[in-house]
Amino acid sequence: MELQEALTILDNTQKKLFAYNAASSALYLDAVTVAPRDTAEGRGMALSVLAGEQHKLLTDPALTEALGVLNEHKGELDLLHARETEELSRSVRQLTRIPAEEYMAYAQLTNEADDVWHRAKEQSDFGLFRPYLEKLVEYNRKFAGYYDPDKAPYDALLNEYERGVDTAYLDGFFAALREKLVPLIHAIGEKPQPDDSFLHRQYPVERQRKFSDYLMEVLALDRAHCGIGETEHPFTLNFTSQDVRITTHYYENDLASSMYSVIHEGGHARYELDVDPQVEYTVLAGGVSMGVHESQSRFYENIIGRSRPFIEAIFPKMQEFFPEQLSGVTAEMFWRAVNRAQPSLIRTEADELTYCLHIMVRYEIEKALIGGTMEVKDVPETWNRLYKEYLGVDVPDDKRGCLQDSHWAGGSFGYFPSYALGSAYGAQMLRNMEQDMDVWGPVGRGDLGGVTGWLAEKVHKFGGLLTPAQVVENACGTFDPMAYTDYLTKKYTELYSL
Ligand code: ZN
Repeated sequence: MELQEALTILDNTQKKLFAYNAASSALYLDAVTVAPRDTAEGRGMALSVLAGEQHKLLTDPALTEALGVLNEHKGELDLLHARETEELSRSVRQLTRIPAEEYMAYAQLTNEADDVWHRAKEQSDFGLFRPYLEKLVEYNRKFAGYYDPDKAPYDALLNEYERGVDTAYLDGFFAALREKLVPLIHAIGEKPQPDDSFLHRQYPVERQRKFSDYLMEVLALDRAHCGIGETEHPFTLNFTSQDVRITTHYYENDLASSMYSVIHEGGHARYELDVDPQVEYTVLAGGVSMGVHESQSRFYENIIGRSRPFIEAIFPKMQEFFPEQLSGVTAEMFWRAVNRAQPSLIRTEADELTYCLHIMVRYEIEKALIGGTMEVKDVPETWNRLYKEYLGVDVPDDKRGCLQDSHWAGGSFGYFPSYALGSAYGAQMLRNMEQDMDVWGPVGRGDLGGVTGWLAEKVHKFGGLLTPAQVVENACGTFDPMAYTDYLTKKYTELYSL
């Protein structure tokens, strides 16, 4: 096969992959937003055909041959084609490395495990889920060997979610968090908590919708390219860099919930919209990794959205939207209320400060399970002990303990650390951004143009043109967890007058 023919196959394959993904995404979006209740069957059929077509496309011998030719001529390819070849080769490898029977058996296991997990959680009965978790751990230890036999099993799994990240990297990161944040959280526990009762007054959904429109304007999300919908769990979905959708969920008696969902998902959307169109319709389109994506959503949500200057900037407008609910409330009171830090049991409801300790507990348990130094039967006891040690809370039952997240039931081991890494990357980006420009003056006037411009230049525009590690290096320099612990220490020392 000639190089030119291989390049044509490369381009065509990626366009088709894009189309299959776009079709699947559209069906998914329809399902979770506007589709009537009893309509899942036809979509299920369409999705399984699309998945089959995608599998066929990636296992086509002509593609394998083309990728072989392209890899041989790597030195002659431009950066775009070189990276496309690298990523597509990786996808093909990923698809074929697990023997088909094992893959099928595992798919069935996760399907059942998810079902059992739901019931076990409802009944707060770890014993019910335990045999499934044992099998899931066993499979993942085995798969790790297929992914990379030269790596320790948990390192191989971590690398699947955030390439370049391993236990050595994370041990240092989490040790720094433990050392700095556990005492900080304990110190806050001694202090009075700010009043946040006004966040739970009656906020009509219709007004909240208008407020969301305003927030999207502040984030400069062009409504001709970014839509907003409503779903049980907020998320962001990108079709192209010209077509991104976010969703939120409104609670009448909780203003902060949707407000910060819109800003968080808006951060994900900002990233997608700023990716250079030259990677459109290729495997390099869209954000580069989950960790980098979370660094952006959390940057807007926490670092900007929960900052004093930002709240001071938008508070007068908020009072126009909610004059009765926010009467007698000041920007300062609002800032304190949305930054209330209190150790809790549930990860998804955790505040900015205590969140990463929830992740640390999961990391330590996963590391021990996949590393083979801990048995599944000891998960609840270890979970409860670590929650007491790091967060100072007593776990009353497994429902609010080790059964709360769906990740393990879905077979995801090594996914959690990306959440904490994202937050830490964001803090280091802020440190660098502050050296490059005046961040808080414009933010205090409600102008996020400079912030977004910096992030677009250092992170967003690349899409997958650089690897996750290269993007982090580009925006952060050498990763330093202290940037994150310093940021949190400074912020919460001020909030709680420590
Ligand atoms: Zn997110």
